[in-house]
Amino acid sequence: MSQDAEETRAGRRPERAHTRIAIIGSGFAGLGAAIRLRQRGEEDFIIFERAAEVGGTWRDNSYPGCACDVQSHLYSFSFAPNPDWTRSYSPQPEIWEYLRRCARDFGVLPHVRFRHEVREATWDESARLWRIRTSVGDYTAGALVLASGALSEPRMPELPGLENFKGRAFHSARWDHSYELKGRRVAVIGTGASAVQFVPEIQPVVSRLHLFQRTPAWVMPRNERRFAAAERRMFRRFPALQRAARAGIYLFRELFFLGFRHLPLSRLIRRVALRHLRRAVPDPQLRARLTPDYAIGCKRILVSNDYLPALTRPNVELVTAGVAEVREHSVVDREGVERPVDAIIFGTGFRVTDQPMAKHVRGRGGLTLEEAWGGSPRAHLGTTVNGFPNLFILMGPNTGLGHTSVVYMIEAQIEHLLGALDYMKRRGLAALEPRPEAQAAYVAEVDRRMAGTVWTAGGCASWYLDRTGRNSTLWPDFTWRFRRRVARLDPAEYVASGPLRGGG
Ligand code: NAP
Repeated sequence: MSQDAEETRAGRRPERAHTRIAIIGSGFAGLGAAIRLRQRGEEDFIIFERAAEVGGTWRDNSYPGCACDVQSHLYSFSFAPNPDWTRSYSPQPEIWEYLRRCARDFGVLPHVRFRHEVREATWDESARLWRIRTSVGDYTAGALVLASGALSEPRMPELPGLENFKGRAFHSARWDHSYELKGRRVAVIGTGASAVQFVPEIQPVVSRLHLFQRTPAWVMPRNERRFAAAERRMFRRFPALQRAARAGIYLFRELFFLGFRHLPLSRLIRRVALRHLRRAVPDPQLRARLTPDYAIGCKRILVSNDYLPALTRPNVELVTAGVAEVREHSVVDREGVERPVDAIIFGTGFRVTDQPMAKHVRGRGGLTLEEAWGGSPRAHLGTTVNGFPNLFILMGPNTGLGHTSVVYMIEAQIEHLLGALDYMKRRGLAALEPRPEAQAAYVAEVDRRMAGTVWTAGGCASWYLDRTGRNSTLWPDFTWRFRRRVARLDPAEYVASGPLRGGG
């Protein structure tokens, strides 16, 4: 690679370029799209990555104990099985390494523009292309793939006085590894999927841990094990064996969906979680405060064997009174109790339904995605949006899951993207967008399937729900139904426009 090209890739030098496909983000979605494009012989694409490394959420979340709670044989690309997973549920470093290896081995890295933060993407109707402004330079692209992820923007609560705090404060997705937690007094805010992983890791190290819980979570046992070297060798020698293991995990996890759909079945899962809690927490008072009052599954079910036991340790205090105020060296709860702390760690999650990126993507007529959505993200097949030609959102509205691997959903969406690009190429089309009535019918279908599920009728407030109260986050059915519906493009659901006169 020439020095200029190297400089550009590293984000030190602007480039003015046109590309057929621009991808924003290099996590599972962006890399998956890039790999599948290359496998189809497409080389005319660029991935914009604001960081200096690929990996998305698995790069950013490096907090102690970070791991996936979907088994790795399923939580990986179907086209890139990894026989070397060391555990059934892989820790973050292994998943991140897997993604970096995929990027390298599938020849994606030369397409990545690192340290290129996309500031704005605007559809130019007269030129029928996307104009993309990045922190480094301007680009144009025929199609835009938003692969910036649902879990990329940390959500920080607005706590009165936080700006005056003199200790160290950070979010779990921006873990401050330079800060020595040993012997410190620490407040942890939030008890979601991230906190249950890092709390048991830091509990033995810190001198005092005040855990601020707003809503207790349902916690299920984690059936984890190491893969023996012989097992890994078998997976390597007989890839069919690994495919079979993957299929088995897939089928088992799909069964969970039945529990979410049918409340009586969810009672069975609830019984397992209650027993798990009883065994871990002998103190009935503490147990009562840790017992959720909503249907299991309404919020994401957490999976841990060491979170609940950690809460019984003498240096841990569970605080349920809520944070009233932060002072220079303390946190004050709503009952007026002041707790001196050296650090505050926020396990408060991500901006999922109000993603900042939606403000910066402008479709026809200058309307932003945020304006088009009015607080409730909607997309045809969770992927394309009327008024936003040639835009493909991976992990778009209603493609999240509460029970199994989102990589499966991402792959289905990528096939849709490839189908659309092929269709446009074959027909010589410049632009494609879903018909408004097709999109409306799809969204209505999703809402119909959602009605009565534990996510809407489970009696909890979760981040699955947007500010209008609609669940615009989850796919409310078996995942194979999503794949069957989405992986193939139905041209009848789309409006196409031809090339500009005289080329284009
Ligand atoms: P989360 O599940 O959204 O949990 C955020 C926690 O912070 C909740 O307990 C929430 O309480 C609390 N909270 C938020 N704002 C608050 C406030 N102002 N005051 C007090 N408490 C507040 O976030 P997360 O744990 O980072 O996980 C996000 C998602 O990432 C997960 O659902 C999952 O999809 C993914 N994830 C997966 C894994 C895995 O695979 N193992 C690990 C980590 C994360 P309420 O419940 O009352 O809102």
